[in-house]
Amino acid sequence: MKLQFFLRSPSHQTLTVTLESTQSLTLRQLKSSLLPNPQSLSSFYFTLNGKPLSDSTLLPNPQISHLSTLFLLPRVSGGGGDGGATGAESRDCYLKMYAVKKPDKVDPNEKRLGKWLNCALSNEPLREPCVIDKLGNIFNKEALVEALLGKKLPKEFRHVKGLKDMINVKLSMIPGKQSDAADGATFQCPITGLEFNGKYKFFALRNCGHVVSAKALKEVKSSACLV
Ligand SMILES: [Zn+2]
Repeated sequence: MKLQFFLRSPSHQTLTVTLESTQSLTLRQLKSSLLPNPQSLSSFYFTLNGKPLSDSTLLPNPQISHLSTLFLLPRVSGGGGDGGATGAESRDCYLKMYAVKKPDKVDPNEKRLGKWLNCALSNEPLREPCVIDKLGNIFNKEALVEALLGKKLPKEFRHVKGLKDMINVKLSMIPGKQSDAADGATFQCPITGLEFNGKYKFFALRNCGHVVSAKALKEVKSSACLV
């Protein structure tokens, strides 16, 4: 007999999960199929009738009857260090779940900002040394090179075949900002001070690696290093 149950995501969407009679899996496995970011797994837990379920709970399970509803909830805890999630982490995977199911509901500002804050591959905060590819994706060089050497580059980055396909860039930190600050932009144009918040266009200068705003290039009509 098939086991069918419902799953309410943190973004209040209901998914239907169907388990064939021959299938079994743990809640942890179910969770990892829902959350694309493995780091966010510990930030969420399942509940049934308001009671938390252990991640090692095996499905099918007599506790979980046909057509019951499991809730996937973010853990609420202090900011990191205690094994719990920081607000930033859970917010991040919240957005991702949203992005998978309903792309039109993601705040475009959040998405654009993310590109300028996080490595396109590892999704970790951008830290020097950084590189960009020809499509304008920004990476932490270490993460990209590691994936390249380990032949673990996902399809969308397969155009990066070697060091020649990356441009080393120098990002200018906004004074007083930490690279892992939870809010807002981290980097800026060294000439105009425009922030990398996804609202302005930026160019990487191939020769010196400085990343400057389109506005700066327009105002200073010179191909020499402007910084
Ligand atoms: Zn320069």
